Amino acid sequence: MTQTLRTPDRRSCELCGRTEVWDEDSGAWRVAAGDDGPEVGSLHCIHEWDINGSFAPFAGRHDAVEG
Ligand SMILES: [Zn+2]
Repeated sequence: MTQTLRTPDRRSCELCGRTEVWDEDSGAWRVAAGDDGPEVGSLHCIHEWDINGSFAPFAGRHDAVEG
């Protein structure tokens, strides 16, 4: 059985449109470059990240599919 670490490698903000990708080398999120340049969004945005998949950042949320 292969143990897979399920971590998101891409996220986008639902509020300002900022898109970031995970940089394993630096271990930090970096702004993803789009066709018209980086989508930096708003610097003052609190950022509501929309992460693909069933990744649940908060414990206690059981609305995700189990198993
Ligand atoms: Zn934002």
